[in-house]
Amino acid sequence: MTGDERRVLGTGADVRRPASITEDLLQRLVGRVRGSTGNTWKLTEVYTGDVLVELPQSSPEDIEAAFEEAREAQRLWARWPVEKRLEVFDRAHTLLVDNAHTTADLIQAESGKNRRMAIEETCDPPMIISYYLKRAAKLLAPRKHGGPVPFVSSSTEVRVPKGVVGIIAPWNFPFATGLSDAIPALMAGNAVVVKPDNKTALSPLFGISLLEEAGLPKGLFQVVCGEGPDVGPTLIDNADYIMFTGSTATGRVIGERAGRNLIGCCLELGGKNPMIVLDDVDVEEWVESASFGVFGNTGQICMHIERIYLPDSRYDELKAAFVERASTLTMGAAYDFGPELGSLVSPDHKERVASHVEDAVAKGATVLTGGRARPDVGPAFFEPTVLEGVTTDMVCGVTETFGPVVALHRYRTVDEAIHLANDTDYGLNASVWSGDLKRAQAVAARIESGNVNINDALATAYASKGSPSGGVKNSGVGARHGDQGLLKYTDAKNVAVLKKQVMGARPGQDYDAYVKQMLSSLKLMKKLRVR
Ligand code: NAD
Repeated sequence: MTGDERRVLGTGADVRRPASITEDLLQRLVGRVRGSTGNTWKLTEVYTGDVLVELPQSSPEDIEAAFEEAREAQRLWARWPVEKRLEVFDRAHTLLVDNAHTTADLIQAESGKNRRMAIEETCDPPMIISYYLKRAAKLLAPRKHGGPVPFVSSSTEVRVPKGVVGIIAPWNFPFATGLSDAIPALMAGNAVVVKPDNKTALSPLFGISLLEEAGLPKGLFQVVCGEGPDVGPTLIDNADYIMFTGSTATGRVIGERAGRNLIGCCLELGGKNPMIVLDDVDVEEWVESASFGVFGNTGQICMHIERIYLPDSRYDELKAAFVERASTLTMGAAYDFGPELGSLVSPDHKERVASHVEDAVAKGATVLTGGRARPDVGPAFFEPTVLEGVTTDMVCGVTETFGPVVALHRYRTVDEAIHLANDTDYGLNASVWSGDLKRAQAVAARIESGNVNINDALATAYASKGSPSGGVKNSGVGARHGDQGLLKYTDAKNVAVLKKQVMGARPGQDYDAYVKQMLSSLKLMKKLRVR
């Protein structure tokens, strides 16, 4: 099917903005940004290119003031008992769920994604809240350990909040990355200063207003806005910890500065995620999930699949099924659940995606379906695109495209598929498909990646909030979710107690005898498993 025949369910020319996005709401939201420069960013509705609101831009002085106020609020917040802090999030959960549709309206307007993805995105902060409501009190409680000398010494691990956490968020999941990483930081007793992407500041601002409605103290969660290189340095220099989600290139800049300041950071970066399909796969189950894994959020999910490895013995069958599904995906500009594919985030990003496809074609790749921008649908639409014959001398053969573009590859042995999947600088997500879970698990064990989904593309790993989720190699440092996703926002203070002065030689004791006694007690402690 050519692009012209693809079903289009709504265009930018006839889309109607949801009634929930009123001028009053927009002004209330941007009014929360600390921005005294007088400069503004024209935040647009992606489907139409129309300016939605002028977003204030923050100066270094604004950022310093945001940290000062956050620091003051944090001192009081950290003294609240954990249970009282958690009650705020219990209430916030209800408000976030009850306001999911307005949140999704804002997410769609500023990012251009389709309704299904926008609604799914609204679910992430409530899922994070539910998980940490169960875990946070336990994780933050002091933990007693044995001391060096049994019975007379002990040590207690006390969790102390870092202070003010700086969060730098991307545009692809603005609501989820703006809020979900902040929630465990706040539960642990920190304040937060977030810098959303200029393009997508509205949905995180709305989410923060809901947290405050639920009882989060004013001043504890600040928002500053601006272009990354303008705002980033002052933000990092004032923060006690940095949580960054974005590209690998920016992650290096952030990591270097955090390192110079000797503060911790968590960097969640890009990927070039592979999917290995084994020869016993059920084609019908696979094709739907693979299609979502490649084209969900118009290919702008950090964990989305950009390389698919198909077995030689079933290559033609699997390729035909995948291309058929890709060519029948509906696209469109609509605030309803119709289109399966929304817009890219901006005309600039559309140009970047198009340039990857043009480069591949110029160097010999074949377009099996898609491959073109669709200005007739909206300013940043691009067709779901399947390529064949992609090699590592092509830009999209090695670097992240971050759009609705995938390359199909043929493999002869499973060893070859694993080698090709690992032949990348990235290591964020991978997917393995098989009718035999044991076979799939054996392959998963050999893939160099922070996340591996078996018989799914990406969602199962990301939605499993109990396991840490992060990248290896150039895909990141640290992780979100799991115990680590909260404990990283704390310092461990080791408070040790010695009840009696028994360490060291007693006055007048022969040192040789003392050493002998000490060495034999080390052996005894190991034998008795006393720590
Ligand atoms: P980006 O790195 O360009 O921008 C991310 C954020 O960093 C934005 O808020 C931006 O304004 C800010 N920024 C840019 N330069 C900066 C600087 N010098 N100092 C401080 N801040 C700066 O990334 P993007 O294009 O917005 O997002 C897409 C990328 O994010 C993709 O590579 C994607 O894979 C990655 N991503 C990763 C994850 C993950 O969990 N691993 C999740 C979502 C997105």
